[in-house]
Amino acid sequence: MSDDLRDLYQDLILDHSKHPRNFAKPGQVNHEALGHNPLCGDRLALYLYVDDGNIIRDIGFQGSGCAISVASASMMTEMLKGKPVQEAEHLFDYMHAACTGGETNDATIDEDARDRIEALAGVRHYPMRVKCATLPWHTLQAALKDEQKVSTE
Ligand code: ZN
Repeated sequence: MSDDLRDLYQDLILDHSKHPRNFAKPGQVNHEALGHNPLCGDRLALYLYVDDGNIIRDIGFQGSGCAISVASASMMTEMLKGKPVQEAEHLFDYMHAACTGGETNDATIDEDARDRIEALAGVRHYPMRVKCATLPWHTLQAALKDEQKVSTE
């Protein structure tokens, strides 16, 4: 691993990349999308089951990619399970801002989510890695809109 990337690989990210959470296709799925980041080679399939009340009842992913993309997907699924779709979209905006140096002064984001997103947002100093970190979130957007594929290019 190169020196300039070392500080990106914090314990939280390493843990999630080695032991991804929700790394499976849920039994019931009604939204899914494939995400591809050709710059890095990250590929993931994201699966969601959203109930009639617009709550994300189940979420999982499969695929392969670099540590950042896998950790981001793992943390995202943990954050979103049981949450309303509206909140997921709000978190997407926050995540995107955090990774691109935008406004992150949002008191409505809970501390747990804030900590996780902050750990990933170190990528903002490494433009190549921003797409790795945000790929799962772009794939989430595609799945919720029932677009089947998303590419970061
Ligand atoms: Zn990557």
